[in-house]
Order: sequence, then structure tokens, then C-alpha cells
Amino acid sequence: MYPNTSDYTAVNKPTYFLIDADDKIIETSNNWKKFAVANDGEHLTDVLDTKIWQHLCDPGMRLLYTALFQEIRFGPEHSISFVYHCDGPNTQRLYRMLVERQSAGQLLFTNFLLKSAPNTQALYQRYLSSHRRIKVCPHCMRLKIDGEWMNIIEALAGVEIMKDNYFFIFESSNCGQAQ
Ligand SMILES: [Zn+2]
Repeated sequence: MYPNTSDYTAVNKPTYFLIDADDKIIETSNNWKKFAVANDGEHLTDVLDTKIWQHLCDPGMRLLYTALFQEIRFGPEHSISFVYHCDGPNTQRLYRMLVERQSAGQLLFTNFLLKSAPNTQALYQRYLSSHRRIKVCPHCMRLKIDGEWMNIIEALAGVEIMKDNYFFIFESSNCGQAQ
């Protein structure tokens, strides 16, 4: 487990990509391909002019990103910054992602690597098997964290749900509150 994440500063040049109002990836940083390969995402090296949804197959992750996009495009906050784990079989990595509203519905995603450390098979297997299930309401897009429904900004940036190296499963569940 990593210590307090706010103590870290980025250790290398950040990567970024930009999506338009239709969620199409219209620009990536020069170091994007290297980043994708390094993060076990060889299939993500050539993403330009594709919709971001093509690369998010898991329905729970799609729901999470739908909530995030909606909040940053139309909510009171124009940006969010949150810490998340991206662990592969050989390397554990901790990133900070910054999502910023741009003009004309565009969203800019910048990833800063905060820390990387060698992974072991035992640790990686433990990560894969340590599921944490989080409910996401498909109507109000709030998440249920420790028994409390909260919006995605609070969940990602406030409670920092993704800073721990759990294997997250986001599932659709109605919060029951009248809309
Ligand atoms: Zn709801």
C-alpha cells in the first residue's frame, strides 16, 4: 500500500488526450503510444478518431465515465483531479488524472504518473481478487460509498475511492430517490 498520495509529484512527462462533444478522441500527446504500451494497453496505441466508448467495454466503467463526463461538461465544477491505481502483472502504478472542461463540449484528460513499483505475481493476483463493488445509480449518476450516495466528484476527488489498489466493479443500481 502506498503512503499518502498527496505527497507525490509527477515523476515524468504527463500524457494527455482530448475528446470532442461526441466523445471522439481528436488529439493525443506525442508520448501517448509509449504510455499505452507501458500500461499493458497495446490495443490502445491507435485511438485517434475513435470514440472513447470503443475502448471501455466494461458496462460498469462505462457508467462511471458517463457520470464523470456529464458532471464535468454540465455540472458546477469545470474540472476534477483524482488519484487512481493502474496495476499490471509486472508493475504497480499510481496516477493522478486531471479532467478539464474545454470549449464546445470538449474534455481534456491528462495523466500524471505519481509512482511506479515492481509488481509480483502474488500481489497482482491479490489485486485481481480483491474486488470492491460500487453501486452507481443510472438516473442521478450518484455512487454509493460506505452506505452513502454521493456524486462522482465527491467519490473520486473527496473520498478518493480509486487510490487504493482494489479491482473495482461498478454496477448499476437505482438509489430509490425520486427524480
Ligand atoms: Zn439515483
